[in-house]
Amino acid sequence: MTTARFDTTFSFGANGAQCRVECKCGRARTVDAEELRRMFPLPVPIARAELRLVCRGCRRRGHARMVPVPMERG
Ligand SMILES: [Zn+2]
Repeated sequence: MTTARFDTTFSFGANGAQCRVECKCGRARTVDAEELRRMFPLPVPIARAELRLVCRGCRRRGHARMVPVPMERG
């Protein structure tokens, strides 16, 4: 388990983690740190970033959660 804190969208890259975006409708996808930086060029608090995400499944905004996924190593 990691004790790293995830405060902003930049925390994923800083901690070598990917971001799993899970919507309440059940749709989920994994975004790597590079793509995350393209989506949010400046660090955005995760709670605010979640509100800005629009689901491609149900097309709702603000229904997603951003969950850290440690990258596989080796
Ligand atoms: Zn959805």
